[in-house]
Amino acid sequence: MSDNNGPAATRTVRCANCGRTNRIPAAAQGSPKCGNCHQPLPWIADAGDRDFAEIAEQATLPVLVDLWASWCGPCRMVSPALEQVAREMAGRIKLVKVDVDKSPRLQQRFEVQAVPTLLILDRGTEIARQAGAAPPHVLRDWVEKTLASRAQPA
Ligand SMILES: [Zn+2]
Repeated sequence: MSDNNGPAATRTVRCANCGRTNRIPAAAQGSPKCGNCHQPLPWIADAGDRDFAEIAEQATLPVLVDLWASWCGPCRMVSPALEQVAREMAGRIKLVKVDVDKSPRLQQRFEVQAVPTLLILDRGTEIARQAGAAPPHVLRDWVEKTLASRAQPA
């Protein structure tokens, strides 16, 4: 794989279990764990047209995609709800946020008619979709049911 411009994006996340601050890359194999206590860490990344394949489609975890826009009021409500789901389901799901205004190819490819649109990808294949905002417990139910319904060898 060739180098892209600049270092890979990372985020710092505080471990809910031990309090250690960890740096988490946007793209990696497996799923991130705390360097201190080895508990799974929530994985939240931003992606766009250029890096979606690496960050979302090549992920080995199921990916919850948040297709949002900065001008969209409901997006500002659903974003923290999705981050809560990502924290609650750390180690089981990766949350990838896509600003559709900056990602016209993804917007077209996923035929996004309205924002927010939420997708669940399993190794790059869309297995569920929901349009519009919903409270965290509804989103989590939706994600859990989707993961439970996919055929997955243990
Ligand atoms: Zn820890």
